[in-house]
Amino acid sequence: MPPADPSLSRQEAARRMSYLASLVRQWDFAYYILDAPEVSDFDYDQAYRELAELEQRFPDLVDVNSPTRKVSGFASELFASVVHAVPMQSLDNVFSLDELDAWAQRTVRGLRAAGLTLEAGASEIEMAFELKIDGLAMSITYEHGVLTRAATRGDGVVGEDVTANVLTVEAIPHRLPGGSPPELLEVRGEIYMPVSVFNRHNEAVLRAATEGEGDIAEHRDKIFANPRNAAAGSLRQKDPRVTRSRHLSFWAYQVGEASTVEFDSHLHSLDYLNGLGFPINPNIERVVGIEAVAAKLAHWMENRHSLDYEIDGAVVKLDSFREREMLGSTSRAPRWAIAYKFPPEERTTLLRAIKVSIGKTGRATPFAELTPVVVGGSEVGLATLHNFGQVALKDLREGDTVIVRKAGDVIPEVVGPVLSMRPSGLEAWVPPAQCPVCGEALYRAPGEADSYCPNFECPAQVVQRIVHFASRGGMDIEGLGESTVQRFVDEGLIASAADLYYLSAQDLVGLERFGERSVQNLLAGIDESRRRPLARLLASLTIRHVGSVAADALASRFTTLQALMAASEEEIAEVEGIGPTIARGVVAFFRDPRNLGMIERLLAGGVAPAAPEVRGGGEDYLKGRSIVVTGTLEHFSRDEAAEAIRAAGGKFATSVSAKTFAVVVGAEPGASKLNRAVSLGVPRIGEESFLRLLQGDLAVVDTGALD
Ligand code: NAD
Repeated sequence: MPPADPSLSRQEAARRMSYLASLVRQWDFAYYILDAPEVSDFDYDQAYRELAELEQRFPDLVDVNSPTRKVSGFASELFASVVHAVPMQSLDNVFSLDELDAWAQRTVRGLRAAGLTLEAGASEIEMAFELKIDGLAMSITYEHGVLTRAATRGDGVVGEDVTANVLTVEAIPHRLPGGSPPELLEVRGEIYMPVSVFNRHNEAVLRAATEGEGDIAEHRDKIFANPRNAAAGSLRQKDPRVTRSRHLSFWAYQVGEASTVEFDSHLHSLDYLNGLGFPINPNIERVVGIEAVAAKLAHWMENRHSLDYEIDGAVVKLDSFREREMLGSTSRAPRWAIAYKFPPEERTTLLRAIKVSIGKTGRATPFAELTPVVVGGSEVGLATLHNFGQVALKDLREGDTVIVRKAGDVIPEVVGPVLSMRPSGLEAWVPPAQCPVCGEALYRAPGEADSYCPNFECPAQVVQRIVHFASRGGMDIEGLGESTVQRFVDEGLIASAADLYYLSAQDLVGLERFGERSVQNLLAGIDESRRRPLARLLASLTIRHVGSVAADALASRFTTLQALMAASEEEIAEVEGIGPTIARGVVAFFRDPRNLGMIERLLAGGVAPAAPEVRGGGEDYLKGRSIVVTGTLEHFSRDEAAEAIRAAGGKFATSVSAKTFAVVVGAEPGASKLNRAVSLGVPRIGEESFLRLLQGDLAVVDTGALD
């Protein structure tokens, strides 16, 4: 939704305001009562802002019941009501540093008007910087040191009594320690679902659905859209045993009502709560001035995914209670605090079509063609849907409005359809029975999630196998990307990877947009690949379950291709790190006459893999290759890592480009570097692989080989 149209007439504005208000109310209901949002927070915030903007422009048209005048939310009748002694408010939001600065200026003006001397203005304000935990607010009351009541925020005045459920959250003390607890103490904070718990839950639902147990609609209902909804849904249960099974957690961030204790500052009150055993988020810090806040915001925007809980922004609060009193609150939110919202990681968009691609092993992967949206810092127009079962489980239909999520360097995900926006008559998606490329009937082995095209000669498989063969983790043939391979196959120049070694300059010079120089470079690249180490050759052959790590283990143990081909399944399974599944894949591969024919042709074409002891060949194995390091490594400081890369002949680079050989990912990596690496297809490796790389094992640089 764009910002409010400045040309609206009074009448048009009145109509638009009433429309926006009803939209926001409808979305509030779905979000707070049903725990099933109909739109992303981004779309919600846009509509809300547009309404607030119009209300500012036409103050006489404002409805006293407008959603902007109250704390959004409801207390449902499912639970007993609790009247909050001190109302639970919301927070005002800002979305940019300029807006944050404007809040700081307003704060300074307010404090000065109340008589405070602030010579240096905003740079003098003492604040607490906190992460904005994406869960749900909770009020927990202790009487004489015993937890007697827990309530949701509800509409801010009346909340829901969820005491029995909150008692199942391990992080929340049932009793306060010490001999003389306060007569009354109300603690406020955020209940959340750890990201690890959220992921485990959804993975288990997917597994159960794939294995075909039970009814698909039942599985569908169990999928959590995101950790916030999961937390809210898990807490607002009639049966506390369900809540307990969801492993929720808690951060305390405020003292509400209190009988005997008084504080002068927010941070002191948190110290007090900490002393009573409440979990206080370790990233809460005292900051002075808005510049310090900006630095912290930048840090957390980059590192938000290093945490095991979701944050959707940060909250900045005045620390002094005296200053807070001077500013007071509006009917909805305190003036002494502001929430800075991070860029959205979820957006709604149109699912234009569901298509199916065929990979190198014949696997059929459905993917979504979306109206492109900027989400999680990059534009998303395509998203994998993994397998047919997941499309059915989520009931995605072409023409649906869907929620798309992109968190950090994780690949974009289609969370699910927005059912309230589904046009009538939209048909359920039916997976194709035939391969969309070659027309062969697809098959799915029982108990497997994926469907396959069984045709080894399927043009899509042929192209993908050759692309994989030539890729960086394989034979690393410069200049042989997917479009070139596709073209060569279309022109009938190659039909397998082995054919590459029979190409001549004459075959290629006539091709349009393929100059003499490109031809020479490509042929040189192909020639160079003839002597790649055995491990690289094995990794490039599309042997089931054999990636760079397994290829490495096999090459070290058998040292020649012939020895591996002659080995029995048992011998292969005994190799460290291999096991029966991989061994079966290897034996099946070398038993297939089509593969044997291809290997014969490779060898006859001059491919002579180097034995593993000459790993990487010489000391300058990183020569001409640039490596980027992001995050903290355990065994190297940044300078030591740079030194080690240079000692191996490589270049230590600080930014990721398409030419980067690999990105080494340490703890708390930078999201922008990771995102860039993912979008450019640059391999990312963990520290263990980095150590091996430094010893000359270039094969560890396989796509996405994080430790
Ligand atoms: P809010 O979430 O923007 O901010 C207030 C809340 O922040 C508090 O109630 C508390 O629960 C939480 N919080 C987290 N960490 C905190 C900390 N350190 N200190 C203080 N509070 C902290 O406002 P809201 O009124 O709770 O909800 C409105 C927002 O909810 C909207 O901006 C939107 O993002 C979302 N929403 C979405 C939909 C939807 O359909 N997608 C519908 C309604 C609301």
